[in-house]
Amino acid sequence: MRLLGVPCSRVFLWGESAMRELTDCPANGLTSIRGTGDQPGNSSGELTGMVLRIERTSIHDGQGLRTVIFLKGCPLRCAWCSTPESQRPEPERGYVPARCEGCGLCVRACPAGALALSAQDGKVSLDPAKCRHCFTCAAKCPHNAVKPYGRLLSVTETVREISKDEIFFFYSGGGVTISGGEPLNQAGFVAEVLRQCRELGIHTALETSFYAPFESIQSILPWLDVLYVDIKHMTEEAHRHWVGVSNSLILDNLRKADSSEDSPDIILRLPLIPGVNDSDENLAAVAEFCQSLRRLQEIELLPYHRLGLETYKSLQKDYPLQDLVPPQRERVRERAVFLARQVPAVPVRAGGELVK
Ligand code: SF4
Ligand code: SF4
Repeated sequence: MRLLGVPCSRVFLWGESAMRELTDCPANGLTSIRGTGDQPGNSSGELTGMVLRIERTSIHDGQGLRTVIFLKGCPLRCAWCSTPESQRPEPERGYVPARCEGCGLCVRACPAGALALSAQDGKVSLDPAKCRHCFTCAAKCPHNAVKPYGRLLSVTETVREISKDEIFFFYSGGGVTISGGEPLNQAGFVAEVLRQCRELGIHTALETSFYAPFESIQSILPWLDVLYVDIKHMTEEAHRHWVGVSNSLILDNLRKADSSEDSPDIILRLPLIPGVNDSDENLAAVAEFCQSLRRLQEIELLPYHRLGLETYKSLQKDYPLQDLVPPQRERVRERAVFLARQVPAVPVRAGGELVK
């Protein structure tokens, strides 16, 4: 592989904040582009991914019944994020004090001496510097008070997990969806999992913020049947404020992916957050942007909800939108109808229901 005239097996292409490597892969003869969060290979040299969880028979993440692989690590910090356990790229240990009976089993089992039981309230405290993320504590706890977030899986292990559901894919027309966190953070791993799924005849989808180098996206497009991309806000300043990063890379990537010869069908998703991005102006700007996308099949509004609050507590994190109230069903539908009028050629869905 040569890049800009430089023969390379390892070339850094991106700025300090989002460095990635472009690596020739001797195993499959393909060039894999590694995302910033791609993990080192396992002892057999196989690519691994930091997987948050695997959900089976989902009906919300693409056609038919889906096996959804949630990956850990995300460069965005949306104020309304409902999966705070997916944000950091390394494993994390959640703890729910209300479930803890103070039995001390986890403390005695911890091989790193990272846990202590308080004599005052009978609750467990963690020394994060000592924790090795082995999750022995979670396995020992009889009350489900400890939550393990994140484990390394190889490509082979991941594809094996996905393949277990082939019978559901066959009868429902479903398949696999890779989600996050931000899956493009681990682009090398994702590309290889999707490639192998495709070889097995499994329908493939990706849910992404598209905040990644376009080269990472390019490495995945050939193995995708459907691409779900989130649009959060069309105004640069508001996007930086609510999401933590600029929207220009995301919009650029969308234009490029849409005009790529490998582009799959695209579905845009807009999390509808009251007072943040549900104004006439923002929805009209979304609609105008959509007019230029030739592969766009549908726009979906995802109403704001507060289902992640308990997870914030288990990670001892503050929830940024404490007082925000989820929108009423009528309001969501009214916003969807407004948007649909601006983009007559594209179906618009809200809360699962097609409004036109
Ligand atoms: S994850 Fe392992 S090292 Fe960390 S507190 Fe639990 S048992 Fe100890
Ligand atoms: S094992 Fe579970 S219930 Fe017992 S002290 Fe640890 S967290 Fe609490």
